[in-house]
Amino acid sequence: MKVSIAIDGPAAAGKSTVAKIVAKRLNITYIDTGAMYRAYTWYCLENGINCQDEAACVAVIDKVHIELLENEVVLCNGTDVTEVIREPYVSSQVSYIASYKDIRLALVDLQREMARNKSVIMDGRDIGTYVLPDADIKIYQIASVEERATRRYDENVQKGIDCTLESVEEDVRKRDYIDSHRDFAPLKPAPDSILIDTSFMSVEEVVNTIIDIVNKKVKGESVNE
Ligand code: C5P
Repeated sequence: MKVSIAIDGPAAAGKSTVAKIVAKRLNITYIDTGAMYRAYTWYCLENGINCQDEAACVAVIDKVHIELLENEVVLCNGTDVTEVIREPYVSSQVSYIASYKDIRLALVDLQREMARNKSVIMDGRDIGTYVLPDADIKIYQIASVEERATRRYDENVQKGIDCTLESVEEDVRKRDYIDSHRDFAPLKPAPDSILIDTSFMSVEEVVNTIIDIVNKKVKGESVNE
């Protein structure tokens, strides 16, 4: 059976950590849509384009070729940007890029194409509401802002990314604000999504919760309660 799972939620809620594990366990494809917006942002920054200048960012749309490989490697015009797109200088600009409708439309086309005819788990901000409105399962994953900032800070430290807890929390708050206030496909829960508050849950517990929901769905049981 083909299954599509959408996971949305605010920044650093652990969506990608959980989605990667669920994808492996169910042997389905994981699609990290945030990596695409990050790669586009990286391209603009590399080329001296001001990310707050919509016209300038949209003007290069035909020059930016983003690929997500099966092994989670992200390529932008053939350059491996997997690591660099996680740097704070990219994070701090990505929500501007993601607020431009023309860029979103181009990246959404790519996302839908990647999800065509196969089982996927896709994470982002607008997957259940806009990219895959007919997804079989829609999860809206949240956690308190303090918890999310702490988790992202710990992750950054492990990866050797230079930052402070305060700067990470500020970035998370700023991105959430821009992402949920943009005009086109803003961050918000789909009406038929299932809310999972992970503030006091381990990764394993969240993964198991989602797999239980998938199993129920496959058996035809109700999952939205
Ligand atoms: O998920 P991640 O934190 O890597 O996403 C980076 C940024 O990309 C988000 O803050 C948001 O601005 C944008 N994004 C989006 N829609 C998605 C995925 C990410 O607007 N589906």
